[in-house]
Amino acid sequence: MTKDTGRTRHILALSGGKDSAALAVYLRDKIPDLEYVFLDTGHELPETGEFLDRMRAILGIDVKRIEPKRSFEDWLKIKGFYLPSPQKRWCTEVLKIKPYEDYIGTDKVCSYIGLRADEDRDGYISSKPNIIPRYPFIEDQMVYSDIEDLLESSGLGFPAYHRWRSRSGCYFCFFQQKVEWLNLYKEHKELFLKAMDFEKVDSQTGKRFTWCQDESLEELLNRADQIRSNHDAYFKPAIKGKKLIDRLGDNITRTCIVCDL
Ligand code: SF4
Repeated sequence: MTKDTGRTRHILALSGGKDSAALAVYLRDKIPDLEYVFLDTGHELPETGEFLDRMRAILGIDVKRIEPKRSFEDWLKIKGFYLPSPQKRWCTEVLKIKPYEDYIGTDKVCSYIGLRADEDRDGYISSKPNIIPRYPFIEDQMVYSDIEDLLESSGLGFPAYHRWRSRSGCYFCFFQQKVEWLNLYKEHKELFLKAMDFEKVDSQTGKRFTWCQDESLEELLNRADQIRSNHDAYFKPAIKGKKLIDRLGDNITRTCIVCDL
């Protein structure tokens, strides 16, 4: 943990998503001593690692990787094998927020957050009084098209997973849509199978621990044709070739403010 030097530190926590990446571009020359960190859950997409490497190379920045003291697997045991869900989102707290706050310690920090002026969601606000949230895109009234411009003009572009998935975060994130689970199977079958391994049935009570509330990943896979035909977005010829975020829209179930920015 870094010692309190008495000065204010400036930190941007990158999620591996487009908005925090665009904020890195935006702030790079405005705040020379900005620290860049990435809160690694240990269950990230390979594309996220590649995108962070691109940021390091193109922006010439150092991105410090911060890991939680306990792994997701350890926490899952502690939580009685209850997989995290939108209602019980313990993963964000223990894998992202706590490690970030531990990293900061008692230092006074301006924590920069990539929320845009055209978004209607709350940002992560630490309860710790030494962490002051800053929202440069909101302060400067910047919207989605500005973020696109920043990413394209810097040469960084969008994260590669946007071709098949709309948001950053863990490969098993329960916020993803069913078609995105199918896309995960198609793009990274081994990660889909790892996610399947976390699903359990309690042999005594029959209770099912699944990522989706109404079906297991095996059941979801068995319904692939039905899911795809119900969800014309992935194969719709008129929009084929566009990023999935353009097809699904940017405001779909975006409740994970810490992981998805
Ligand atoms: S990306 Fe999803 S699964 Fe991963 S920590 Fe965030 S909310 Fe949890």
